[in-house]
Amino acid sequence: MHQVSRESSNRGFVLVKREDDGRRTCQTLLGCTGRHVWWRWADQPEGPLEACPVPELFR
Ligand SMILES: [Zn+2]
Repeated sequence: MHQVSRESSNRGFVLVKREDDGRRTCQTLLGCTGRHVWWRWADQPEGPLEACPVPELFR
């Protein structure tokens, strides 16, 4: 992945159902220098970034 700047790339939040525990949970959206869209669970701020499966919705 490209470099993600924490300050400049936050695109907000989106509520999605988490398959692991079946709960509706916020994902934090992040953009990178290559204009990809990434997200991570808002309740796991140090967790891994995953590629957003529907980036066209958030550009
Ligand atoms: Zn990238």
